[in-house]
Amino acid sequence: MDRSNASPAARASAPSADVLVIGGGVIGLCCALELQRAGRQVRIVEKNTIGSGSSHGNCGTITPSHAEPLAMPGVVAKGLRWMFRADAPLYIAPRFDPALWRWLWRFARRCNARDVRAATEAKSALLQASRALLETFVRERALACEFETRGLLYAYTDPRQRDADLADLPWLREVGIHAEPWDAARMQAEEPALRDDVIGGLLFPGDASLRPDRYVAELERLARAAGIQIVEHCGVTGFRRERGRVVGIDTTRGPQRGRDVLLAAGAWSPLLSGQLGLALPIQPGKGYSITFDAQRRPPSRPLVLRERSVCVTAWGSGFRLGSTMEFSGYDDSLNRIRLDALVRGAGEYLREPPTGARIEEWYGWRPMTFDDVPILGRAPGSDNLWLATGHGMLGVSMSMATGRLMADLICGREPIVDPAPYAATRFG
Ligand SMILES: Cc1cc2nc3c(=O)[nH]c(=O)nc-3n(C[C@H](O)[C@H](O)[C@H](O)COP(=O)(O)OP(=O)(O)OC[C@H]3O[C@@H](n4cnc5c(N)ncnc54)[C@H](O)[C@@H]3O)c2cc1C
Repeated sequence: MDRSNASPAARASAPSADVLVIGGGVIGLCCALELQRAGRQVRIVEKNTIGSGSSHGNCGTITPSHAEPLAMPGVVAKGLRWMFRADAPLYIAPRFDPALWRWLWRFARRCNARDVRAATEAKSALLQASRALLETFVRERALACEFETRGLLYAYTDPRQRDADLADLPWLREVGIHAEPWDAARMQAEEPALRDDVIGGLLFPGDASLRPDRYVAELERLARAAGIQIVEHCGVTGFRRERGRVVGIDTTRGPQRGRDVLLAAGAWSPLLSGQLGLALPIQPGKGYSITFDAQRRPPSRPLVLRERSVCVTAWGSGFRLGSTMEFSGYDDSLNRIRLDALVRGAGEYLREPPTGARIEEWYGWRPMTFDDVPILGRAPGSDNLWLATGHGMLGVSMSMATGRLMADLICGREPIVDPAPYAATRFG
């Protein structure tokens, strides 16, 4: 439903907008809000409804602590070992898919200390800027999104995993990430929802959390109040060009012209950019979540059940288990084995497994670049097509700084962070 004020016919033929934003997830919304604030007139074009993509059912953790990339030494061997285990936290579907195998090859080549450091520094700058902006924004605008600042807690059952993570702490401190190791007694005292066999934990006090669907709803509310035009159920099918320059888009409801066009279509972005001959190296990294009613004795802060890679987020309004990273192309099935693995994994750490109705079983496609760094800035070879995509596992965490950076770049202002590491030109 298009909830803007004009009649459907007038809207469908709407001749022009100042900035057209493709995609109404957290990234498109934050870019639109910042651009409007900078004095531009913005229209968001969304093929379904606002917030219906990956921004809907994710875990809602805000994690500057997660600056390290997925492409780490040892990950490829683990992925290959897990390839035939249908409930593994990282799963690569054994299928013929040349684009995926090319992506995996480039991913494997990044699993070395030098590239890990570069990606960590790039992500950390954006994550920390975003964390600070988010807290100010939520408080100043009184966003009703269950924002909490109690940190994020890793829970361990295997001393080898804990020791491996502890060994990383000195270098994480160098990029501004602080963590407090907790022993078993402290874990029990702070989080009685955890079982006795949890041997220790690691608290990241700088992390936070929110309820992502409510965050999106609040961003949408602010966008409409600011006069941003939102056109839903309007799929972009291609770009209009004149003399080599992008001058607008084709949509399922007719063409639209724009002075600037910003592509923020998450995991779908390469499907559109390919039409301009721009091969964005993004694969959908599928993840699942299950949302329950609020639980009787929930953990007091978000948890990562480390060996099972399951994230637990408890809000006043609900309780969510989420995780898994599956590379199986644009496969839209809900895999029962992987959903059940979330509940089974949680049962190994929580005294009381989640009870009550399952409000929602969900999957989302994370927009994964092979270097795990988002793509932000001008599209190569264009002066008015902009890219804000590839946020992988951290789009909610990076949303605010992404919006600010894109508005800085499009409006020619001093950028909030150095944009160089995020440029699409890095792919050659
Ligand atoms: C299980 C899971 C847990 C996660 N947990 C966290 C977390 O705890 N913290 C965190 O920071 N991140 C988390 N993430 C990642 C986060 O959800 C994503 O990085 C983020 O939502 C990406 O936002 P986006 O706006 O780029 O994409 P999306 O939210 O997917 O939005 C893209 C939008 O573009 C629209 N679109 C696509 N094609 C077209 C077209 N042709 N025309 C018009 N519109 C189009 C789509 O309909 C969609 O609404 C998680 C993801 C998953 C799957």
